[in-house]
Amino acid sequence: MAARQSTEWTRRSLLAGAAGAAAGLRAGQRAATAPEEKVKAQPLDLSQFEPRSMLHVPQTNVPRARFPLIDIHTHLSWGDPKGESSKLLMPAEELLAVMDRKNIRTMVNLTGGYGKSLEGTIAMLHKPHPERFLVFTQPWFPKVAEADYAKWQGDEIGRAHKAGARGLKVLKSLGLVVREQYNKGPLIKVDDKRFDPMWEACAALNMPVAIHTSDPEAFFLPIDRFNERFEELNAHPDWSFHGKDFPSDRELQEARFRVLARHPKTNFIVLHVANSENLPYVAENLDRYRNMYVEIGARIGELGRQPRMSRKFFDKYQDRILFGTDAVPHGRQTPQQIFGDRLYEIYYRFLETEDEYFDYAPAPVPPQGRWRIYGLGLPEGILRKVYWDNAARLLGLGQAGA
Ligand SMILES: [Zn+2]
Repeated sequence: MAARQSTEWTRRSLLAGAAGAAAGLRAGQRAATAPEEKVKAQPLDLSQFEPRSMLHVPQTNVPRARFPLIDIHTHLSWGDPKGESSKLLMPAEELLAVMDRKNIRTMVNLTGGYGKSLEGTIAMLHKPHPERFLVFTQPWFPKVAEADYAKWQGDEIGRAHKAGARGLKVLKSLGLVVREQYNKGPLIKVDDKRFDPMWEACAALNMPVAIHTSDPEAFFLPIDRFNERFEELNAHPDWSFHGKDFPSDRELQEARFRVLARHPKTNFIVLHVANSENLPYVAENLDRYRNMYVEIGARIGELGRQPRMSRKFFDKYQDRILFGTDAVPHGRQTPQQIFGDRLYEIYYRFLETEDEYFDYAPAPVPPQGRWRIYGLGLPEGILRKVYWDNAARLLGLGQAGA
């Protein structure tokens, strides 16, 4: 052990040697400096690790979006599964105060529910503030096992439209949660034919479909030391879709694309950039399906860690990308979604600046994986499209601020 120590060249002894040479000592002669200090590495629990970046790089504050915008992906209310009531997660006045500060002209509340829940949501948000809040409806999945569901659900879209719904939102529960008898039996596939009248009704009524299918690729892998989202999954093991009877990520993606292929007149806003870890795959499908749009909510952590690929993606598909955040008031478990000033400032910084290596979520530890992101510095023309024009076209709205 002693012999080993004497021949071991550590960085520190190398530096001591260099200092000796500088002081004019002959080779082999030891400098009369303090004996080498043994610094013992302490074990550290990963959950306690909060490294602070030592980079001296620009930090741009973007308190307000450069242009008025539409946030196409928010959750401001929840309806009960029976479709009887709905609850606003934050009073409209509080939402509006943030929106005014951040230059958010319109927010689309995707989880408007159905039946009386939908009517309640529209009465609380859209009716008093018609230009600031739009509301989407949702499929009535608890009725899926009923014999005449397919036609009934198609007709129900018409009733929701009459009530004031501007689009349809489909949660990732389609493909991962909803089963033949709603909560038991085999999982119902995303491209199940029962939903065809629903997709067609959306085309006929000019209601875009905001669809979330599958989840991050890492959620379909074992929760182990190779999983890049280990901490997130370890904290929320129920978010994992690994094993059991869950389809693979790719099977879910492909089933959703078959729906797009079968209903070319229906516009689909594919939420969370469809598959944000695999932009070439998303691009291939954007080229194939003209009725496909993507939204960036809760995925700037993915887009921002591949900034060169993302920048090219925004250049090429600038007419098909929509601004969204997946914001939820008080969403404690998911800091990347907590509605408020800080969240929007991060999105604006990502889209508008070329800042480097910054947090994608307002949290002490990056919640979706331990990395940081790089701004895209989008030019004015693309920003205007992403912030407003693309969503406005799909929602039948006019010019920004008009
Ligand atoms: Zn969402």
